[in-house]
Amino acid sequence: MQEVILVKNGELALKGLNRGNFESMMAKDIRRRIAPLGAFTVSRAQSTLTVRAETEGTDMQAVYDRICKVFGIAGICRAATAKKNMDDILRTAADYLAPQLRAAKTFKAEAKRADKKFPLKSPQICEEVGAYLLERFPHLRVDVHHPDVIVHIEVRDSEAYVHTGVRPGAGGMPAGSSGRAMLLVSGGIDSPVAGWMMAKRGVELYAVHFMSPPYTSERARKKVETLCEKVAAWSGRLRLFEVEFTKIQEEIRAHCPEELFTLVMRRLMMKIAGRLAEQTGCSALITGESIGQVASQTMGALLTTDAAVPQPVFRPLIGMDKEEIVTIARRIDTFETSILPYEDCCTVFTPRHPKTRPTLEEVEAAEARVDWSEMLQTAIDTAQVKNFTF
Ligand code: ATP
Ligand code: MG
Repeated sequence: MQEVILVKNGELALKGLNRGNFESMMAKDIRRRIAPLGAFTVSRAQSTLTVRAETEGTDMQAVYDRICKVFGIAGICRAATAKKNMDDILRTAADYLAPQLRAAKTFKAEAKRADKKFPLKSPQICEEVGAYLLERFPHLRVDVHHPDVIVHIEVRDSEAYVHTGVRPGAGGMPAGSSGRAMLLVSGGIDSPVAGWMMAKRGVELYAVHFMSPPYTSERARKKVETLCEKVAAWSGRLRLFEVEFTKIQEEIRAHCPEELFTLVMRRLMMKIAGRLAEQTGCSALITGESIGQVASQTMGALLTTDAAVPQPVFRPLIGMDKEEIVTIARRIDTFETSILPYEDCCTVFTPRHPKTRPTLEEVEAAEARVDWSEMLQTAIDTAQVKNFTF
């Protein structure tokens, strides 16, 4: 008996011609992510990947936890391997699942026979497993409707597997299968969630963060780096550009009408992000905006920020309530970091009465009071690059 991890493909199964390609992308991603934990083989058969440790004493729980964060996976479970004969299958089921079976009162067996040449049919396998386990664990009863434990037996081409059921995987599509996009990441709750949602759709993430020292602190910057690291645990990799925005913000404050500060600032952020995107092969921008959340997120305001860049701007949170966003932030483990109370450059120069119904013409006119080209270029040229890999 050896413990392995079985990985079931999700949406991949639907993708016709792309399927083989997607499966190998997913397998490659899994291999890369578990490599720090030991030597493994990852084999593919019948829309299941089997992950097997080649080194003794590998921490399979740690391997499992990492694979749970790989997008493209519909279902995942830890399983024991057995030889393809009933004696070995029965013994493996009883030994491997002993802790769960001892703690349970009721169980049932379920069998799947992918190898149709196996001499017993599925109902017969279940019968034998049921009878054997009742004998080995006399306190157990069979309950086919609400069992405490379901003993799954899968008989496949090369071997059989025993487990207690497939749990949902991270879902979505494999990393990089949908191209690359640039996330505008702040230290808040929303933008890390927005990045995670696009990564789930197979988008490789690059990110840009604007900071305004000395108005914003080193701690605020570290906080954003921690958030990027947490998102990278799911997206696999993330490249962050840290851009100094102080000079630009001071110029906005000096020359633009106060009620339009935020919009001009957001347009200039978008312009820098757009140029960085162009230079790095990103086909779109991503923000954490949600309609009506603040003055700069009305439809009119979003129109003015969209107009600042040639790329499409993806806003996966656009129709979500704050509570829904918080639920995801907790699940992906960014929430506790996001609520640390450090300042963001957006909050440093907040106007007292921001305009909620701006026209594009007035925002463009306000912006045109300054020639930004050199300042934008300097901000891009002096950006610091950090890579997060998981
Ligand atoms: P978040 O929780 O992501 O900070 P928010 O609700 O606080 O969002 P805003 O501060 O208005 O909203 O920012 C809207 C979006 O603009 C953010 O989701 C993010 O994509 C981008 N953004 C804001 N501040 C920054 C920054 N300092 N650097 C990069 N992007 C930013
Ligand atoms: Mg914010």
